[in-house]
Amino acid sequence: MNKVIGLRCRECGEIYPKRLIHACSLCFGPLDVAYDYDAIAGALSREAIGRGPPTIWRYRDLLPVEDGGSIVDIGAGLTPLLRADNLARELGLNEVYVKNDSVNPTFSFKDRPSSVAVSKAIEFGSPAVGAASTGNLAGAIAAHAARARLPCFIFIPEGLEVSKVVQTLAYGAHIIEVAGTYDQANRLATEIALTSNIAFANINVRPYYVEGSKTLVFEICEQLGWRAPEHIIVPVASGALLHASLRGLKELEEVGLIDDWSTRISAAQAAGCSPVVQAIQKGTTEIIPVEKPNTLCKSLAIGDPADGYYAIQAVRSTGGTGRAPSNEEILNGIKLLARTEGVFTEPAGGAVVAALKRLVEEGEVERDEQIVLYITGNGLKTQESLVPSLIKPFRIGPTIEDFRKLLINLQTPGVKWLEGV
Ligand SMILES: *Cc1c(COP(=O)(O)O)cnc(C)c1O
Ligand SMILES: [Zn+2]
Repeated sequence: MNKVIGLRCRECGEIYPKRLIHACSLCFGPLDVAYDYDAIAGALSREAIGRGPPTIWRYRDLLPVEDGGSIVDIGAGLTPLLRADNLARELGLNEVYVKNDSVNPTFSFKDRPSSVAVSKAIEFGSPAVGAASTGNLAGAIAAHAARARLPCFIFIPEGLEVSKVVQTLAYGAHIIEVAGTYDQANRLATEIALTSNIAFANINVRPYYVEGSKTLVFEICEQLGWRAPEHIIVPVASGALLHASLRGLKELEEVGLIDDWSTRISAAQAAGCSPVVQAIQKGTTEIIPVEKPNTLCKSLAIGDPADGYYAIQAVRSTGGTGRAPSNEEILNGIKLLARTEGVFTEPAGGAVVAALKRLVEEGEVERDEQIVLYITGNGLKTQESLVPSLIKPFRIGPTIEDFRKLLINLQTPGVKWLEGV
């Protein structure tokens, strides 16, 4: 089945053949994969998806890879959707879910777009892959490249978390740390993409890459019994994931997998780098780039987001909103989610939890609204940001007496943990 028609300009609608291009030569608009939805709808059913692999590739009919032999699948996707009643209670809400994408193979949602991007690079016969990354894409592309036995070039800004760099090196990637911000690293990678045969996931493979991100909302709908959620809160870096969420909902309706939906899509960023949320709050679609992001939420620190404009449009058109919590609120968000639901996320997830807390406090969500939080990255990758705000482990001698003394200090009235205490 030839389900991909080509690439279509998001602005002027011009159709291009399937190639490694990402911008319209008429208007410079971004290109999206154009599908033959009628052909797909005829072949696709909820049951067929249910019988598919437990990864993003269960939605293969809605992904742009046509040669099954080029698929690189290390298990991205089909992550748990957890009902978060403890968190909901603490926030004064009734129905909150956590989409725990922190348990993907490289511990962030970036495995979804990376699996598609590297598969597509193989289909195009690219001799090497690459990416500019705020941290998580680095590990995800490097792992998929390792599996595909392709050389990998990763461009990162200064000052990323140690675990993200170590993990990426372990997969055997070449890491190039550019003295500057993400936007500077990305600009350099864009120049290299134009003059090399490297397939850059977030640059010349971008139209295909972003298709992987929409599987997150596909899964949420499937896990809710093929119903769209009422409200999703999405962390925003380049804006691709947020925009892809709207695109994903429209596609599910188009091929008949969900019926009428009215999902509000809201954005979460960090106060130290919030160009998208600023624009949403001001009621404009004009993005003022942040020259020097300053936040511990490094995975979201993109000052000039490629899909920012489209993310704002998606929020607007669905009646969503946006919040950009401070570092302190983000750390509290991480701890709140960890101690209520047993899910340890990185600052991007903390920003999502903190954004919801703000929305509740400001009366922007109804008590009964069904809310799904996108928890996109794992706390083990960003431990250094949390350490200063945690209490240290207790230190005692190796005796029962020392432990008894400790318990006396910890004792809660009415609870007995140890005889004689
Ligand atoms: C990259 C990233 C996002 C958002 O990515 P977009 O560029 O907006 O698609 C969200 N959370 C985490 C943890 C990320 O690494
Ligand atoms: Zn165009």
